[in-house]
Amino acid sequence: MSLGWLALARGTLDRVAERRRDEDWVTAAWAGCRVLVVDERGRVPFRLDDRPRLAFVPARGAPIGERVLLGVDEDKNAYFAVVATLPEQEGVEVADLRRIGALLDDVESGMMTHAVAMALWHATHRHCPRCGARTKVIAAGHVRVCPEDGMEQYPRLDPAVIMLVTDDDDRVLLARGSAWPEGRASVLAGFLEPGESLEQGVAREVYEEVGLRVEDVRYLGSQPWPLPQSLMLGFVCHAPGEQRLRLEESEIAEARWYTRQDLLTATLAGDLVLPGKVSIARQLLEHWYGGELPGSWGLGL
Ligand SMILES: [Zn+2]
Repeated sequence: MSLGWLALARGTLDRVAERRRDEDWVTAAWAGCRVLVVDERGRVPFRLDDRPRLAFVPARGAPIGERVLLGVDEDKNAYFAVVATLPEQEGVEVADLRRIGALLDDVESGMMTHAVAMALWHATHRHCPRCGARTKVIAAGHVRVCPEDGMEQYPRLDPAVIMLVTDDDDRVLLARGSAWPEGRASVLAGFLEPGESLEQGVAREVYEEVGLRVEDVRYLGSQPWPLPQSLMLGFVCHAPGEQRLRLEESEIAEARWYTRQDLLTATLAGDLVLPGKVSIARQLLEHWYGGELPGSWGLGL
């Protein structure tokens, strides 16, 4: 069984990737498009009605900045992102993905996730990694090319594994990162290393962080996490037998096993704060738990 709803993996826009290098098509699409301005910190403007809605501007009102074709909706409206300082607009607020990613509808959640990922990539890849020259944007914002040596750069993605570990009693292991406040806890996660399979990465990270040997590593689903450029790959795995926890002190402040009842009781009492609905960590936990758990949807609610 795989994960169901994932906050940042709900996009429905047609990305029209085959049109990105067709300059006539892109120019015509830009003229009539809706623009989502996104800043170099990954924040976008939105209006709060009964739920957050992205605040678009028309192309002629868009600020100067890198333009990224996001795609076309089912009514053939084109959407672009522009990477720039956010304009002041009446009745408009500003937020990042953590605050509104889970609250937007499917199409806007996908659009924002894509726009933020591209903005953070453009903001940190404006020079050629080979010769250092300033690069130019091509392919409707999806490629940067070096004018000196022609080297093309594509948006970067860092694969990260995130895994829910169970024991022989079907308890779940939750850990608190050393930089996190008291009471907050989540499942384990880490970046994949070069030359490693996903399953090897899961086993290595669990052993490094808490000293457990795991088996039966199973993939459940993925979602982008462009903060700044991760792709989160979600797994469950099993730590058999009576194994002692041995924490990597620089990263993990504490870790312990929870039964389903422990988890619910601690969460309802406010002793335990689980990851928000926007995260794949939350969906892994609810998948194991077998239903919804108390927690935040975002916006500080
Ligand atoms: Zn170059």
